[in-house]
Amino acid sequence: MDFDVHRGFLLLSGGLSNRTAMNYCSHCGTPVSHRIPDGDNRHRYVCDACGAIHYQNPRMVVGCLPVWEDQVLLCRRAIEPGYGLWTLPAGFMENSETTAEGAQRETLEEAGARVEIVDLYTLINVPDIDQVSLLFRARLLDLDFAAGEESLEVALFAEADIPWDELAFRTVKKTLEHYFEDCRSGQFPLHLSNLDRRH
Ligand SMILES: [Zn+2]
Repeated sequence: MDFDVHRGFLLLSGGLSNRTAMNYCSHCGTPVSHRIPDGDNRHRYVCDACGAIHYQNPRMVVGCLPVWEDQVLLCRRAIEPGYGLWTLPAGFMENSETTAEGAQRETLEEAGARVEIVDLYTLINVPDIDQVSLLFRARLLDLDFAAGEESLEVALFAEADIPWDELAFRTVKKTLEHYFEDCRSGQFPLHLSNLDRRH
């Protein structure tokens, strides 16, 4: 695939940011202003009519690294950002679920795969797009998986076959690098890291 991975990540970063512009107050419909409220030190969307302050905070992306013997399960994305590129099954955490439940749900939705969570494996802060990625090591329970609506295809890959140049996200690349490295020692500690801001 003719795809500049570094540039791709930049594009994807923009596409996934949740720093969305707000025009109108979601409480009362009045146009909001963007300023530092009294007693605060950051710009917020503020409604001068009803007094609401609309805080925006990072989102959690939860997902799995599903493992079967010496292979891992990847999904090829059927949606932007990263259409046609490979990823681990992951997505935004929903209200009323735990991080592990969200990871299992995303794995079922995107890969049609049932997994048993082993443990939290990578926690990666991505401050340039206001996200925290939480990926769990998981055991694939059977081989009865299939592409969900957001995937073009789903497949198992041994280390030698990983499409390193066609991965959709930096967090996925980093997680896979840790995993195959850890396979050599058989120890899988939690990897806590930050992805550098890109300019
Ligand atoms: Zn308002």
